[in-house]
Amino acid sequence: MDFNDTPEEATFRAEARAFLEANCKPKVAEKDRMNRSLRGVDYLKAAKAYQKKKAESGFAGITWAKEHGGRGLPPIYSVIFGQEEAKFEAPAAPFAIGLGMCLPTVIAFGSEEIKQRYVAKALSGEEIWCQLFSEPGAGSDVAASKTKAVKEGDDWVVNGQKVWTTGAHFSDFGILLVRTNPDVEKHKGLTMLIVDMKAPGVDVRPIHQASGGSDFNEVYFTDVRIRDDHRLGEPGQGWGVALVTLMNERLAVGGSYGPDYKEIMNFARAASSPTGEGSLMQNEAFRQKLADWIVRAEGYKLAKFRTMTALSKGQTPGPESSIGKVINANQMMDIANTAIEALDHFGIIDDPALAPIDGAFHQSYMFAPGLRIAGGTDEILKNILAERVLGLPQDQRADKGIAFKDLPSGR
Ligand SMILES: Cc1cc2nc3c(=O)[nH]c(=O)nc-3n(C[C@H](O)[C@H](O)[C@H](O)COP(=O)(O)OP(=O)(O)OC[C@H]3O[C@@H](n4cnc5c(N)ncnc54)[C@H](O)[C@@H]3O)c2cc1C
Repeated sequence: MDFNDTPEEATFRAEARAFLEANCKPKVAEKDRMNRSLRGVDYLKAAKAYQKKKAESGFAGITWAKEHGGRGLPPIYSVIFGQEEAKFEAPAAPFAIGLGMCLPTVIAFGSEEIKQRYVAKALSGEEIWCQLFSEPGAGSDVAASKTKAVKEGDDWVVNGQKVWTTGAHFSDFGILLVRTNPDVEKHKGLTMLIVDMKAPGVDVRPIHQASGGSDFNEVYFTDVRIRDDHRLGEPGQGWGVALVTLMNERLAVGGSYGPDYKEIMNFARAASSPTGEGSLMQNEAFRQKLADWIVRAEGYKLAKFRTMTALSKGQTPGPESSIGKVINANQMMDIANTAIEALDHFGIIDDPALAPIDGAFHQSYMFAPGLRIAGGTDEILKNILAERVLGLPQDQRADKGIAFKDLPSGR
């Protein structure tokens, strides 16, 4: 492992920092990032303006080929920009799914005409994309998608429902996984289409979250017509296309959010111990937890350096990168829970004006369960680590060799 920037990487980091200093405010507090719902119109306007500046300055699509408006740099440069951007109040969230997951898929599988039409407008922030994979009966097992597309002349006619679609309410387009052949095994009957989110028959309905935000949606499709030239990959090969999106997703959502062990350490110095003697910091049980968080955080930091070293050498990180979200999302929840419990009956107060660190522990506690689910649940990621990193035997597959239409569906 080499933890230092090469001279070229250091130059790029300095350029990135200069761009961010000129275009963003330094980060104030974690709570501000988390309180900002993706539904705010002003935030969206600011995000579009920021994305445009990024594209004009060469900091959008850092790893994308030059022909697609990118800089053609190795993935480590994208990591470096992300590290610097995280220190600023950069309104980048609305583009994370589109540019991080959907557009790389469009570039990999779209025709020349499709790439000409969509890539530049996405990179410059003019158009936003969402990912329409999950359904009420197909989340972890997304290959069980039932939303149906039937070919009529040059069009596909789509009927069905997706759910948990982040940003569908402000997106212009989406990549949509549909079932086009129920007579073959589930993975073999899927196709990926590009859908215009404003097309007739697309109905976006908001989902209200426990955290108070409303970032994702249900999306219903009723006789929505999509031209066949908006297909990504061959009919029936949508699973291979989806895997490219999912691989990018696992890399994108592994970061850490919310108050960390350093913030709870500061809090613990001021809070009382539940035994009534001294501060929480002096409490034996708390100190044991703290030690555990520090060990995990430091262990993950080293695992991340390994990923960065691989990226720096132009290699693609493997299934081991699944560890990030398992560690971070669980730790985030445990830290928030410990702080709220330490407040005893005052823990019920989540008003930012009254709660410690402006309610950031409470925000974190409400946000963490979603993070433990999005982009692969804890159990699914642990299965990946068990099977593909540790080489343990595969999970049972009761649906192998059976046509999708013959699988028991409960209805
Ligand atoms: C914040 C957030 C944003 C999201 N954004 C999007 C989006 O933009 N687009 C999109 O398409 N989807 C999105 N999702 C949906 C997400 O991908 C799914 O919620 C996730 O894949 C889990 O699927 P599910 O909710 O159907 O749960 P299920 O798959 O029904 O799982 C239920 C429980 O069973 C467990 N389980 C399932 N299978 C196994 C197994 N084989 N072994 C062991 N345990 C198992 C799971 O771990 C879980 O605990 C988002 C979700 C969240 C929380």
